[in-house]
Amino acid sequence: MDFKMSSLNPVSNAQVQAEAANQDLHDLIIIGGGPAGLTAALYAARGGIRPLVLTGNVPGGQISSTERMENFPGFPDGINGGELAQRLQDQVQGFGVPMIAQGVKQVNFSSSPFELTTSSAKYRARSVIIATGAFPRRLGVAGESEFFGRGVSTCATCDGFFYQDRRVAVVGGGDSAIEEGLFLTKFASEVVVVHRRDQLRATQILQERAFANPKMRFLWDTVVEEILGEQTVTGIRIRNLKTGETSTLKTDGVFVYVGLIPATKIFADQLELDENGYIVTDRKGRTSVPGVFAAGDVQNPDYRQAVIAAGSGAAVAMEVERYLSEHTG
Ligand code: NAP
Repeated sequence: MDFKMSSLNPVSNAQVQAEAANQDLHDLIIIGGGPAGLTAALYAARGGIRPLVLTGNVPGGQISSTERMENFPGFPDGINGGELAQRLQDQVQGFGVPMIAQGVKQVNFSSSPFELTTSSAKYRARSVIIATGAFPRRLGVAGESEFFGRGVSTCATCDGFFYQDRRVAVVGGGDSAIEEGLFLTKFASEVVVVHRRDQLRATQILQERAFANPKMRFLWDTVVEEILGEQTVTGIRIRNLKTGETSTLKTDGVFVYVGLIPATKIFADQLELDENGYIVTDRKGRTSVPGVFAAGDVQNPDYRQAVIAAGSGAAVAMEVERYLSEHTG
């Protein structure tokens, strides 16, 4: 399973949803139900705009699959990511904002009003905020797709429980790999971090915790060449980049945390993207098409933090207010 199916109920008010679905033209449609999209919705609603949020099929965004967030301000004991997503959603719904759990499949930004098509409906909007975030990058090695959901995972929160007293491998050296690796030590007998360099990219505090944890082991300068298994994963074939030596590590699970890819495929022929696929925006979140804005990880490769995504959602909603007041009578 890729992401935890959270307990979020994207539509608490069926009537609000039905009305929104039937509305011919929306002032603002927000694509994405993570911290950026939901905070944008909150600010827009408080600013007098009634946005429609298309959350995608699994609302909550990346935070829903984060076990514990220690750096979101206001929660001195940390907060479970799914709970934070739920709270954000409750707050947005408190302002009567309709949320529909549909993923946008196609957009037409060539003229205003803009058109957005999901698998079951078509919507029109005067302005759009794209907050589709990013999704986990895959390793792209043999066996990865075959065993995805049968030992290969990108979500420790969802699947960690299945590895009680077993050995798991975590691939990557960033914050995600180390944070989720530490979480996995609650269940696994051993967590082997396989990293392609001899230094972690993760923040200092996570590194210190990982090095101090007796269940964590590190294989440096090592890449995964193949994921092995029968019905489920049984091991990985690894190669040491310094010595060239190849070996097999027995493991029951492989958790892949090798970075993120922005979710921008449907915008590729409509908006300017950078060489890594991120939406190009100016300081105010404006994209190459006037009236179309972007917030959060989908336009920010540098600071992929929930609090920054939320902040950019707030800022962009304020820009939309300005845009609409200048462009509608
Ligand atoms: P990341 O910071 O981009 O790290 C990706 C890791 O995967 C790097 O160590 C990288 O190695 C490795 N890698 C990339 N491609 C690889 C490949 N093909 N084969 C093997 N290894 C590969 O990604 P992330 O850890 O998912 O974090 C994403 C963003 O979210 C970051 O900005 C991070 O700070 C943030 N985040 C923050 C928190 C927190 O604040 N608690 C938690 C999670 C994530 P190299 O180091 O050699 O490049």
